[in-house]
Amino acid sequence: MIDLRNIGHIYNNGLSNQCRALIDVNLNIKEGEYISIVGQSGSGKTTLLNVVSGLMKPTEGEVLFEGTDIYKLNIDGLAKHRNKSIGFIFQNYFLEPKFTAFENVAIPLLNNKITKEEILNSVSKALTEVGLYDKADKLVSMLSGGERQRVAIARAIVNNPKVIFADEPTGNLDTTNGEMIMSLLEKFWKQGKTIILVTHNEIQAKRAKKTIKIEDGKIVSVLGNE
Ligand code: ADP
Ligand code: MG
Repeated sequence: MIDLRNIGHIYNNGLSNQCRALIDVNLNIKEGEYISIVGQSGSGKTTLLNVVSGLMKPTEGEVLFEGTDIYKLNIDGLAKHRNKSIGFIFQNYFLEPKFTAFENVAIPLLNNKITKEEILNSVSKALTEVGLYDKADKLVSMLSGGERQRVAIARAIVNNPKVIFADEPTGNLDTTNGEMIMSLLEKFWKQGKTIILVTHNEIQAKRAKKTIKIEDGKIVSVLGNE
């Protein structure tokens, strides 16, 4: 489904603070895989995730999604790809604190030409999936960290994407809330979604079916988990 070909990424190319964050990364991700990405802080995990998901064009190489080189699409095409095919979850949630849970989850739907009723249905379904239907009208700023991350997950799945990318989604959460997030990811994987999870936590990483280790911008191992 996703093919990375000779991906390299240099931040601040040519400047004194130049940083080579990815070096010749080749990777094939199949539909329905559950992959974890591990590596020390600064090894390039976030850069890799952003490149694969269509958030950031790498300075070298190609990212093919179902055969299409996503960074050869025009701005509209790439935005459409991100909106339709991928969901993204961040460590810091990236929600609008002054909006309600409902409004936050509705954001990805607003570009689509759909009716109010369809928005209501899709958002209600997504919030139900993460167990927050009863908090739909609460301002996000009034919710706990675990609840915020579940709102962010609802937002990530509201368009029914094929792939969910999660960048250290439990990094700011306690064990109980972290477990809730992991269970949700596993639930979506069992529903057929492809999951790509960046984590520092070795136990979490092993719950994925495959673990990719990255060091200094290079993939150093790809291991199957029992
Ligand atoms: P990780 O997620 O594994 O901690 P990152 O992908 O965030 O690693 O970073 C990889 C390398 O790229 C690090 O050396 C980091 O300092 C550098 N880097 C990340 N983002 C930027 C940026 N926006 N500008 C310059 N350098 C960056
Ligand atoms: Mg990171």
